[in-house]
Amino acid sequence: MTFYIGVDIGGTNIKVGVVDEAGRIVGESSCPTGADRPQEVVLKDILRTAEDAVAASGVPRRDIHAAGVGSPGAVDSETGTVLYNYNLGWRDFAIAPMMSEALDLPVRLENDANAAALGEVVAGSAKGASSAMVITLGTGVGSGFVIDGNIWTGYNSAACEFGHMVIAYGGRPCTCGRRGCFEAYASATGLIAMTKEAIAAHPNSALGELAHREGCVSGHTPFDAAEAGDPVAQRVVDEYIGYLACGLVNLINGLQPEVISIGGGIGKQGERLLAPLRLKVAEETFGERTEGEKMTRLVSCTLGYKAGLIGAAMAARR
Ligand SMILES: [Zn+2]
Repeated sequence: MTFYIGVDIGGTNIKVGVVDEAGRIVGESSCPTGADRPQEVVLKDILRTAEDAVAASGVPRRDIHAAGVGSPGAVDSETGTVLYNYNLGWRDFAIAPMMSEALDLPVRLENDANAAALGEVVAGSAKGASSAMVITLGTGVGSGFVIDGNIWTGYNSAACEFGHMVIAYGGRPCTCGRRGCFEAYASATGLIAMTKEAIAAHPNSALGELAHREGCVSGHTPFDAAEAGDPVAQRVVDEYIGYLACGLVNLINGLQPEVISIGGGIGKQGERLLAPLRLKVAEETFGERTEGEKMTRLVSCTLGYKAGLIGAAMAARR
């Protein structure tokens, strides 16, 4: 049997797994990221956690053929270097060659969203699809595109930042410096902003009362209040789904993936989100619909946090 080590670097925790050819995790371990420490110290923790995961799996060391790392930020997969990551404070961190030397294994570095996309394609919601996009709706919008089992990284390995495709010229400001990005509307942050604006305009609505009772506004709030029949909340949900559909239709018109998997915090809404989203997307996708026509399938991600480490391990197969 052949196994791979997968490492998923997050802002809070680093998760490591030993993964088989089919994308099943057979042993796991994790450690805090402690990103404020020097890069070399973080690397030592990753190596120790990898050894813990191997021990937990019971897989003989000789059966592990390679390791893959998914890191947030801008990465160069050719040189195995994290170019920069503002959240972790990393710059020019040659993590793959350093790990390769310490583990005596080939090590492949990928962007974390791309790795998660590959995980969903190998072992999750898009299993078997010839082309699939994974869009995660969290604090930001993460995205990856896998074609015939390969992550599409573009000419300078920074492709697939679909969150920074403008859907409203001159619209809401985005963290990247532009205005009107998909992320500014379709992220949980965007939905929460729209919800707060609706509450400010209609403080006595059921939506406003729910937010007041819960003491906060989350991505669930408008969906919960809309399901309970509040028209103000329903307008927020409809508006949000409209923006989300707008971005997805741009991607479908341009690239026609077989599957788009929706994940992240808002993705947890499942069919409450997907059922109306599919209608809106079908309505707006370019061309006339005919009976039995092949359409991009919209589904929920199924691997959760495990997608990143499974995908990192699967990227190491190359
Ligand atoms: Zn942007």
